[in-house]
Formats: sequence, C-alpha cells, structure tokens
Amino acid sequence: SDFASLNLVKPLLNALTQAGYTTPTPIQAQAIPHLLAGRDLLGIAQTGTGKTAAFALPILNKLSQIKGRPAPNAPRALILTPTRELASQIGNSIAVYGKHVPTTHTVVFGGVGKQPQIRALSRGVDILVATPGRLLDLMGERHVRLDQIQVFVLDEADRMLDMGFIHDIRRIIKVIPAKRHTLLFSATMPKDIAELAEGLLTNPAKVEV
Ligand code: AMP
Repeated sequence: SDFASLNLVKPLLNALTQAGYTTPTPIQAQAIPHLLAGRDLLGIAQTGTGKTAAFALPILNKLSQIKGRPAPNAPRALILTPTRELASQIGNSIAVYGKHVPTTHTVVFGGVGKQPQIRALSRGVDILVATPGRLLDLMGERHVRLDQIQVFVLDEADRMLDMGFIHDIRRIIKVIPAKRHTLLFSATMPKDIAELAEGLLTNPAKVEV
C-alpha cells in the first residue's frame, strides 16, 4: 500500500513525495486510518519506526482544513515529549511534512532562552511541541493556555515516567479540554503506563509494531 491510498490531503502527499517517502511504515499504515477517523490511539512503538509521521500527518491533515488562524498563545494541538532532542526532531519533521499546508508549529524546551519561544507563541501557532517543564513554566507565566487543544499526543510515555515527569504530565492534562483527540505512544507497556493510558484514552485503537 502507498500513501496515496491513505486519504491525506494533496499538499501532505506532495510533501511526502518530496521527502522521498513512498511506502508507509507499519505504524503509519496501521495508525493513520484510525487517526483520520478521529479515534484515540495507543501506539506501542519506538523511535525509528516512523511514529512521528504516524501522528504528525493526521494532525496536519485535520488542522490544515480548519479555517482561520489560531489565537495568540492558544495552540490547537499539543505534542508532549521528554527531551529537547526529541522535541527538535519532531519540530523538524512537522516542518518537512507540513511544508505545503498553512498550519504553523513551534517547539519549546528548557535550557535555552524563553524570549524566542514567548514571541513564537504570541504570534499564534496551530501545533505546539513541548517538554513538560518548560511548558508548565510558560503556562504559569500566561504565555500559553491549553483550552483550545483539540489533539493531544503523549510521546515516549515510558521515558516520561522514568524521567519523573508524571506529576508534570498530570498537571498539564488537567487543563486540556476533556473533549479532545488523544494519542499515547510508548515503547513498552508496564502497569503504570497501562493505567495512565486507561485514564487518558477513550476506546483507543491499539497498534503495536
Ligand atoms: P521516527 O520513528 O518518526 O523518528 O522516524 C524515523 C526515520 O524514518 C526518520 O528519519 C523519518 O524521516 C523516516 N521515515 C518515517 N517514515 C518514513 C517512510 N514512510 N518512508 C521513508 N522514511 C520514513
């Protein structure tokens, strides 16, 4: 099967062709139809499997069809990931896949100056890629609010828990609207992740690669 059969809008298919992608990876082939149908997803997959495109393409597909720009400081999709390296990689991938759609994104993480992140958020972005600590910091200073979030991705959930982010994650989830589209990715599924997924996801499709 190829990407053209996945019902993505043409500008996304064009970007994939330009990136040299011809065939969806297994996680993409399995997850994207569920996500385009609006179904929650529990993805058991590691980095390197193509999971970034598996969640980024459906998000771009959905948000690129919404009329009107996002309000300042009020993103429409949140991708939470544990490290600055992963956050940057996800941001770079979104830039590639979203090259021909008007959807905007920005990346925020700690250890660097806040001002450029604050300025980017104030211009209004559709998709925010964030690490938990810096996101909470920016939320506390009113530079970002999560009440317009329609899609929430919790990436590398097992690593998040290993790094001690559970309380941060719970504080963030608390202010995301309950009516949302939720995706959780984890390389492993120990009991604490299964419990987190249970509380976070509604009737999820399960994809394991
Ligand atoms: P990820 O697991 O999302 O970090 O992706 C791993 C690598 O595979 C990245 O370098 C992607 O650019 C690449 N990639 C993802 N999906 C595809 C695809 N369908 N065809 C070719 N390369 C891909």
